[in-house]
Amino acid sequence: METRTEISSLGEFGLIKRINEGIKISLPDTIRGIGDDAAVIDTGEEYGLLTSDMLLEGVHFDLAFFPLKHLGYKAIAINVSDIAAMNGTPRQVTVNLALSNRFSVEAIDELYDGMKAACKDFNVDLVGGDTSSSRSGLLISVSVFGKVNKEKVTYRNTAKPNDLICVTGDLGGAYLGLQLLEREKQVFLVNPEMQPELDGKDYVVQRQLRPEARMDVVYELAEAGVVPTAMIDVSDGLASDLMHICAQSGVGAVIFEERLPIDEQTYLAASELNIGPVTAAMNGGEDYELLFTVSQASYELIKNNPKISFIGYTTANKEEIVLHTKGDSRVPITAQGWS
Ligand code: ADP
Ligand code: MG
Repeated sequence: METRTEISSLGEFGLIKRINEGIKISLPDTIRGIGDDAAVIDTGEEYGLLTSDMLLEGVHFDLAFFPLKHLGYKAIAINVSDIAAMNGTPRQVTVNLALSNRFSVEAIDELYDGMKAACKDFNVDLVGGDTSSSRSGLLISVSVFGKVNKEKVTYRNTAKPNDLICVTGDLGGAYLGLQLLEREKQVFLVNPEMQPELDGKDYVVQRQLRPEARMDVVYELAEAGVVPTAMIDVSDGLASDLMHICAQSGVGAVIFEERLPIDEQTYLAASELNIGPVTAAMNGGEDYELLFTVSQASYELIKNNPKISFIGYTTANKEEIVLHTKGDSRVPITAQGWS
């Protein structure tokens, strides 16, 4: 009898691991395949970087509250973020779209206005793609090609024990922004006369609708002469993405709760929604900040950069990935991908 295994029994990471196990790299210029934020390709002087990510209506976004212009921007930004996570520079993007007749030409113009704005901000060229009809909803899949100096490429699996763990910007806002938008949508569905209650919540809402890739920090690290020992972008949540660095590098980690960068608006939204701010920061996801490790010697060179928080350190004990709480206890950090 044929066996049927549910995908849910593997989870996202288990599924990718299984796909990876069945794939062999055969070309000498494929430097890194599945397993990092982007694939790494030897192009001669430099390494090329290649990555793609898709956004699906009903899964990643809800057009009830997601303006198409922002969606276009986000589709580019989250892909550029994966190039940033390799310490690279994005160069060209291609865009695949599947759409139904529910969308007008003007709607697609809006979407592309957002993509063009992102291409301008991140200095990339939109050079192609594919368009198809869709039976239900909108699908946007973007691929980015980037490049990186061979000495500066930064993987997930090269953190060393006793490195400092750093994160850019602040965490948890994008998740809470989404929760607020969902709540307003429910209110609107019950009573269409209601106006959205999003005053003073512009920052967290913007974190959800219009995330930035942290290319600014990639350039600032280069200026400071610092190459991280490992790096990943925070797309699934700090916990999950830290686990990738730790598991792949074979190190443990201690994160200090009191060091987690959380914006004032994130605290306010968390308390209004009755969600723990630290839970949002650790597991919320979609912040698209950079999580990286540096050697202790690098500390002096970047300690004054206000965009960087030093949130903990790596250890040689790979069994122990813990959050050191404000109450001085240590709790294991666990990760979830989507399921
Ligand atoms: P990220 O969040 O940085 O985009 P993912 O968690 O989506 O990374 O993917 C992890 C790794 O798995 C990447 O190297 C990615 O290219 C690879 N990957 C994801 N899905 C597939 C797939 N369906 N087939 C082959 N490789 C995949
Ligand atoms: Mg990534």
